[in-house]
Amino acid sequence: MGQERKLIEIKEKVPSAIRRYEGKGTKGPVVITVDERRCKVCNICVTYCPGKVLKLELETVVVVNISGCNACMRCELMCPDFAIYVDEVENG
Ligand code: SF4
Ligand code: SF4
Repeated sequence: MGQERKLIEIKEKVPSAIRRYEGKGTKGPVVITVDERRCKVCNICVTYCPGKVLKLELETVVVVNISGCNACMRCELMCPDFAIYVDEVENG
């Protein structure tokens, strides 16, 4: 508990870190954006992602297998902290 509180305090001090991952998913090009400052590493998106795209690290979720993303948007819809967004990129 104390450790979690400490992590939140540390995150509040650092500037927002938005990380963009671009790649080709199962349906075409996709961009996954993670707002690392908002992510509280709850694991929901990792659990419900059907493509094993996401992985938890110490302070945020990261994209490890963008080629498995089918743009189902489950991660975006289920994240309680609005920390992850998925955009399908138009071809051509
Ligand atoms: S859109 Fe679907 S497949 Fe892609 S990262 Fe999110 S949950 Fe996984
Ligand atoms: S559901 Fe949201 S807050 Fe939870 S680990 Fe995923 S991105 Fe982070």
